[in-house]
Amino acid sequence: MALSRSARLGALATAAASFLLIAASSAPTPGADGIGDPYFPQLGNGGFDARHYDLDVAYNPDTDRLDGRTTLTARATQNLSAFDLDLQKLDVTKVEVNGRRADFTRAGDEIHITPRGTLPKDRTFTVTVTYGGVPEALNGPIVFGSDYGWMKTTDGVFVACEPNAASTWFPSSDHPSDKATYDIRIKAPKGLTGVSNGRLVSTYDRGGQTVTHWRENRPMATYLATATIGKFDVKTGKTPAGTPVYVAIDPVLANSNSVDVYGVTAEATDYWSQVFGPYPFEETGAIVDDMPEAGFSLEVQSKPAYSAVRSESTIVHELAHQWFGDSVSVERWKDIWLNEGFATYAQWLWSEHKGIRSAHDSFVAGYNARPADSAFWQITVADPQRDTMFASAVYQRGAMTLQMLRERIGDTAFFKLLPAWTKLHRYGNANTADFIRLAEKISGQQLDDLFQTWIYTTGKPVV
Ligand SMILES: [Zn+2]
Repeated sequence: MALSRSARLGALATAAASFLLIAASSAPTPGADGIGDPYFPQLGNGGFDARHYDLDVAYNPDTDRLDGRTTLTARATQNLSAFDLDLQKLDVTKVEVNGRRADFTRAGDEIHITPRGTLPKDRTFTVTVTYGGVPEALNGPIVFGSDYGWMKTTDGVFVACEPNAASTWFPSSDHPSDKATYDIRIKAPKGLTGVSNGRLVSTYDRGGQTVTHWRENRPMATYLATATIGKFDVKTGKTPAGTPVYVAIDPVLANSNSVDVYGVTAEATDYWSQVFGPYPFEETGAIVDDMPEAGFSLEVQSKPAYSAVRSESTIVHELAHQWFGDSVSVERWKDIWLNEGFATYAQWLWSEHKGIRSAHDSFVAGYNARPADSAFWQITVADPQRDTMFASAVYQRGAMTLQMLRERIGDTAFFKLLPAWTKLHRYGNANTADFIRLAEKISGQQLDDLFQTWIYTTGKPVV
């Protein structure tokens, strides 16, 4: 995610840790209603591992109504008597498990589902949820007061869900530690284009509507899924190195298009592939929509979503996230600097690559710009707290940490470390300790003091 206005420092939230551990036993028990993330105790769900989502989303911009059907294929990780999915506000009309009607109740953002029989541990099952209603975007301190999630636009909808808003439009285990593959079919009135993740499978008309079918074959976190709908000018092709490109731009932005979104996207995808390792997805691209109420851009998997025409620097930031955040995802949200610090550092690397400013000079400028008594230095980067998880320190001090690491271990080790990290955790999840361990292994140095100073401690470090 990239902020287009400076983040306000909200009050530090007390992260209520509500961690439910269920002992393995042969007797069937309900899955936990959360995955155990201290920032969001009820996000994600226990007792199963999501494998594949099949989403049907029909949207009518005139009434703002969404009618959906989601089939999740999952594997039980315990003998399950019941389990939860995350869905906000929308009405659920029917739930089926393995094709049979299942009982369900709603409590807050949870759908509590009780199948007719036990779901045995290690066995795959399907759950189909039929639902509908008028989706509501979220708003709150986490994304600095901006709307996020399912956001209505003048000609459709802009969908960008970090960190907890996938549940504004489909039922899921809404946490990045439970990644899955996706088929996404978007049904919208003719003349509108539905844009989603992965590759376009087919487009066809049905009953005066157009259905656009997308498939994401690589594991994806729920918050990176999109079903953005509107009038779009679409340009497709391939990067010079051969990765397919799909760029959709809202035609009302054509005149304000001072940045060559297609060109920068293709160039940066190829450049990052040299620096960070092979591009992890089947397609690259961009969704550029007219959504002034969203003050951010998001690294939607395979096609970053921009709520306006953004700068070259923002585009390279969101594309760097395809490696740092999308392919290698956080295990818990407190590790968010592994996404934002790295994508910000990528912006510094891009300036260096273009001969504009070295990463060292970017470090110095950022360091000197903030006096020691600035609130900036009061965020603990490795555990920034929920409501300040996107504070600028997570981005900028995170990037400073990487520059300090680079100067300590040297360019050879540093530029070996980045692709080693993306290879080791490709399509998976990782945490800060994993990164430190790999940095120490590749450099052969003890680095505890560096990380202690830069990400585990507040206050302005002495350089
Ligand atoms: Zn970002």
